[in-house]
Amino acid sequence: MSVPFLDLAQVNATFEPVLSSVLTQVARGNQLIRGSEVEAFEREYAHHVGTSLAVGVGNGFDALHLIFQAYLSLGRLRPGDEVLVPACTHMATILAVKQSGLRPVPVEPDIDSFLMDPSHAETQLTSKTKAIVFVHLYGQKAIDQRVLDLARKHNLLLIEDNAQAAGCGKPGERTGSLGDAAAHSFYPTKNLGALGDGGAVTTRDPELAQLVRALGNYGSVERDQFQWPGFNSRLDELQAAVLRVKLKRLDLDNERRQTLAARYLAEIKNPQVILPTVVRDHVWHLFVIRHEKRERFREALAAQGISTMVHYPVPPHRQLALADWSTSSLPITEEIHRTVISLPLNTALTDHQQEKIIRAVNQVQV
Ligand SMILES: *Cc1c(COP(=O)(O)O)cnc(C)c1O
Repeated sequence: MSVPFLDLAQVNATFEPVLSSVLTQVARGNQLIRGSEVEAFEREYAHHVGTSLAVGVGNGFDALHLIFQAYLSLGRLRPGDEVLVPACTHMATILAVKQSGLRPVPVEPDIDSFLMDPSHAETQLTSKTKAIVFVHLYGQKAIDQRVLDLARKHNLLLIEDNAQAAGCGKPGERTGSLGDAAAHSFYPTKNLGALGDGGAVTTRDPELAQLVRALGNYGSVERDQFQWPGFNSRLDELQAAVLRVKLKRLDLDNERRQTLAARYLAEIKNPQVILPTVVRDHVWHLFVIRHEKRERFREALAAQGISTMVHYPVPPHRQLALADWSTSSLPITEEIHRTVISLPLNTALTDHQQEKIIRAVNQVQV
């Protein structure tokens, strides 16, 4: 028996026959863009996140990009302003800042939780710093009172990248409701995944929400009137219908992820393996361990039929696309990228498969 890292077809099959039936229903209708499914999903998702407004957009990158573009249009940000971002994150977070004409400034993470360290953020502040992006990396809440105080003290816009942490936290304190605005991704493998691309922006600020919606619709509010030079980034009716089905089970799915993670944390006992540190709410988009001899450890697991992945092997400041970061000294980020391994953790993983993984992880010495 081999264990895949993620069998997406199997995950999606658990939503049948409802999934196919809503797809058919939308396909037979007249409205495929900006219709009742998107409207209902925006309402239901905002309610789940615990904020007043949600705007469906094309994907998670666009959600971030639209937030920055909207703040630029509102005059809350200006081209060239500095935005503090985690040095250790998905490239999309950083590219969204850069593509908006802002200057991303890397901040080192905490080695144990992988999350951006607010005390490191403070050392990167300049008079040009106007915003800070926290990424709930791997599904763990990155924001606490210290972060809120930091943002308030320095008058920074606090933006959440919630691509990896849908549904994280108790109602009333969920990720996506903690800052000024939040970006969400519904990429198929995320905790709340569509059958294609999808994303959303959540906020309590009606002016920001209206602008995000307009900018993602060519800058138009009223038909044939273009107020801003926008672009096209919309959630479509098919994806919204899928997401409405999946949102109903999100809490239950996240509980299953938490059960699987708790078992890994309790039963992995290998002195070569460094387990992740849990400091706050966590919905385990990924279960990331560290190992000094990563490649040999992965090969040994693969030899036993266990697939693992690396999120992420090359740090952003070593990517050609971020040449202006190439001289940055980011030793913690490099150490994390050198040693991390993601073990399978998803809602299709069975107890039996997890037992096999734990046995192998405990047994392999390289
Ligand atoms: C997936 C992801 C994104 C980008 O989302 P897309 O929908 O793929 O554009 C942004 N940030 C983080 C942290 C992500 O994991």
